[in-house]
Amino acid sequence: MTSVRTIAVLGATGSIGASALDVIARHPDRLRTSVLSAGTQVDALLALCASHRPAHAVIADESCFAALRDGLRDAGLATQAHTGEAALEALVAGDACDTVIAAIVGAAGLRSTLAAARAGKRLLLANKESLVLAGELLMAAANGANAEIIPIDSEHNAVFQCLRSRQTQGDVRRIVLTASGGPFRGRSRESLASVTREQAIAHPKWSMGPKISVDSATLMNKGLELIEAHHLFDIPGEKLGVLVHPQSLVHSLVEFVDGSTLAQLGLPDMRTSLAVGLGWPQRIESGVAGLDLLAQGRLDFEAPDTEAFPCLRLAWQALEAGGTAPAVLNAANEVAVSAFLQGRIGFLAIPALVEDALARLPAAPAESLEALLATDAQARRLTEHAVSQLAQSQAIPTPHE
Ligand code: NAD
Ligand code: MG
Repeated sequence: MTSVRTIAVLGATGSIGASALDVIARHPDRLRTSVLSAGTQVDALLALCASHRPAHAVIADESCFAALRDGLRDAGLATQAHTGEAALEALVAGDACDTVIAAIVGAAGLRSTLAAARAGKRLLLANKESLVLAGELLMAAANGANAEIIPIDSEHNAVFQCLRSRQTQGDVRRIVLTASGGPFRGRSRESLASVTREQAIAHPKWSMGPKISVDSATLMNKGLELIEAHHLFDIPGEKLGVLVHPQSLVHSLVEFVDGSTLAQLGLPDMRTSLAVGLGWPQRIESGVAGLDLLAQGRLDFEAPDTEAFPCLRLAWQALEAGGTAPAVLNAANEVAVSAFLQGRIGFLAIPALVEDALARLPAAPAESLEALLATDAQARRLTEHAVSQLAQSQAIPTPHE
């Protein structure tokens, strides 16, 4: 009989969190939710506690702790309430779970992701920003503690599956990540100046949280994924490629030295990646239907347009520069995307702000977590300042009002 996997779902109230809990609930005999975490959404977290009955629930925002504790008590649930980053790290590292789903959005997920790696847990990694910010440190921590990382990002999950037919690192000639192209595929740069928040987050193929949806619209998401692939698969930038594939059915490809190319295909639904991570090396039901290629009709491929979508080029530059450059790229992008979502800046300001931060904070060696976090903070301050100046000087009419 298989033993029961005990799972911490970090970012449980988000889009990945919901998909993960859906897969877990399909396998009560082998998968159990033991820890649930969220940022600020107490009511959503309470509802999840009522349906999944974890032993622990963590709300990051300390001002929400009383509401969580009282809500659990009033509902008659045995779930213990916790708050703050240190509590989350302790739970992730301790006996409460053997598997951690890292699905917090942004650099805010770094510490808990690192804690899972250091504690040697099975780590289902969706939080790509932590790899972009501190990829070397995170991979070294995982290797040092024998933590098993299973990428959840659909492209990297595809590559993870295709790489099972590799014997040595030298067998791989190239890894090609596919990209849907986002909601603005085919548009000119000029025409993107006035796009709204609602247009940017309306992804044609995937249903995701607001930050990654904007990243998909700017193609920064693919840029972050290049850096993610570099760390996960220990592969240099020159062996990585990007192919736009609007149907989002081929999730990525691995080309081998003998001319074979393996790809993984499936419907665009994150439950497949999560089921791979939860069941591996076994295959388990995910709730996702199989792929009917006759019904889908055709698969198209095209080169990405880095003229209209400079974020992809900027990410490639940061990957090549190495050191602190990816941390700067990620921090500037998080600040710019948040300002765009708040209606403070226009869409084209996102790449402009990232480019500016990269130019003003040249790459330095990234020796320690402290150095990376200091760079992250510096890039955030600098970009925040640039956002306020831009918002004042341009007095952009808030596009979504
Ligand atoms: P989301 O916005 O839907 O959910 C984010 C979750 O993180 C929420 O539960 C929120 O409460 C929590 N959170 C936010 N800030 C926090 C903080 N400071 N401290 C603790 N918790 C915090 O995001 P999502 O779309 O589910 O994406 C999560 C991660 O997975 C991102 O890194 C994203 O790039 C990655 N990812 C998502 C998808 C997808 O299909 N949604 C696909 C690939 C990768
Ligand atoms: Mg992806």
